Amino acid sequence: MVKFSPAFIDALLERSDLVRLVEGRVPLKKKGKDFWACCPFHQEKSPSFSVSPEKQIYYCFGCHAHGNAIGFLMAHDRISFPEAVTLLAEDAGMALPTELAGQTPQEDFRPFRQILEKAVKLYRGALSENSVAQQYWQSRGLHPDTIDRFELGYAPPAASFLSQQLGRDDNTRKALIGAGLVSSREDHSVYDRFRERVIFPIRDGRGQLVGLGGRSLDGREPKYLNSPEGPLYHKGQVLYGLHQAREGLRRAGRALLVEGYLDVITLHQAGLDYAVAVSGTALGESQLQMLFRAAPEVLLCFDGDGAGRKAAWRAVQIAPELLREGRLLRVLFLPDGQDPDSLVRGQGGAALEALLPTARPAIDYYLDELQRRYNIAAEDEKAQFLREARAFLQRVNDTTLREVYLHKLQDLCGMAHAIPVKRRGRESALAPARGVRARGKEGPSLFKNALRLLLNHPEDPAWQELEKTLLPFAADPMAKNLDATLDILANMTHLGSHELLARLAGSDLAEICYALVMDADADAESQEGTLMRNEISGCVQRVNQRLIKARIDYMASTADRSGLGALTEQERAEMVQLTRRGRHKPSES
Ligand SMILES: [Zn+2]
Repeated sequence: MVKFSPAFIDALLERSDLVRLVEGRVPLKKKGKDFWACCPFHQEKSPSFSVSPEKQIYYCFGCHAHGNAIGFLMAHDRISFPEAVTLLAEDAGMALPTELAGQTPQEDFRPFRQILEKAVKLYRGALSENSVAQQYWQSRGLHPDTIDRFELGYAPPAASFLSQQLGRDDNTRKALIGAGLVSSREDHSVYDRFRERVIFPIRDGRGQLVGLGGRSLDGREPKYLNSPEGPLYHKGQVLYGLHQAREGLRRAGRALLVEGYLDVITLHQAGLDYAVAVSGTALGESQLQMLFRAAPEVLLCFDGDGAGRKAAWRAVQIAPELLREGRLLRVLFLPDGQDPDSLVRGQGGAALEALLPTARPAIDYYLDELQRRYNIAAEDEKAQFLREARAFLQRVNDTTLREVYLHKLQDLCGMAHAIPVKRRGRESALAPARGVRARGKEGPSLFKNALRLLLNHPEDPAWQELEKTLLPFAADPMAKNLDATLDILANMTHLGSHELLARLAGSDLAEICYALVMDADADAESQEGTLMRNEISGCVQRVNQRLIKARIDYMASTADRSGLGALTEQERAEMVQLTRRGRHKPSES
């Protein structure tokens, strides 16, 4: 095991920037002095992963993952300590200690990666000697520098091309098998997987080779062949072109997912260098996640034919959970009979770029498609449609987006906006079930705003004024969350916002509270006002007024139901007192 001196590690960490490092892998959101994101180390829906630029550490309030820049790289990129150090050093422009340079320790998959690199080199060399393959690339309109950039190659027909070039010793054989470059026969001899094919090397986002794609030149099936699943290649986690697109994705803030390798290459050549493709599989959740990590706007581009529609329908099914604030997912259909490659080769990159604005929000597309499957003029089918659509929308992570579409859904079905729409978990996404009546200026948002203020400034003394015992009488489900949060605070003194959020981690409240806290920045300019501490006192007063009214209403309705006698003397006294306090400012109590 190689050892780096503590001084070297210190210097390395000193020169690394954790925020930038994390940001390249996980989109971060600044909140206060820290950055937040949904944790890359556990499944979660609201961000509890925080990065401190000041302390250069990260901490997840959900799964408690924590560490510094080296730890993050090891955990996130699943690499060894020496590899993480090497990577960081390269990034920081620091030379490795001389005794270490050039002898990075062996990692299990290293021979596989090395032999893949060698194979790619051989395939590129073979291309320069084969005119048929060269003609193929030329017929696709690719320039020599594009061929270089994507390292395109050619695998000759011989079944033992790689063994002949790289050797037949046991280690080479093992590496070739491990890298998915050869298959073994029953007699343990091996033969090349890629024969008489043009070769597309596939690199991951960090630029490491993970596999190959090959298109047959002699009409042999399958037309496209990829590396087999193995230690390096996991088709569900590959985005072809991601490495070459890194810069373009960052610049455009947009990712364009297309269907084929050639589409990617042709688009890059035409200047649309933010295009990537899946590799040998339909778009899956982890790839969509990777896309969103790379850019906030994701365009899924499909051919206009039946297969394209089918693929689009499949793709939107996996999307809702990944739709968070700040993310856009759009679906783009090309004119019938076109694919990105043919369109761009025929009409140029501008022709495709001109189509991008016609992309539709993924949820619009979903609702349209779903509607097509039902006859919503018939009430029973309308109910089915509504049920299915609502179940889909409940999965959408962005609460505002969900709200917008739940409204749209009701419009679509010709219904008033009064049906209670249950939100996953606790709170109603729309008005409270009581209906529109309660949606005044500060209707459903009062308790929400109060909870948000509380989460940000739990130490403010004004909270002690809040009529906590009356909270159970409020109809707003958010009141319950406020109550539970105050319970936590009741047991601790001088808990700051950070500590409070830490206490909430893992509790039932965590999701809603973290969401509220993270929402705060986005909503700060909205009608809910900023999160100024001087708002707290006024907010507490309004909450108290609301609670007193709720308590009076409750007692009055009990009295209505069973006659005034149902109120005890004590309740009657309380009612009188509350009525008086409700009229005046609660601060007198
Ligand atoms: Zn976590």
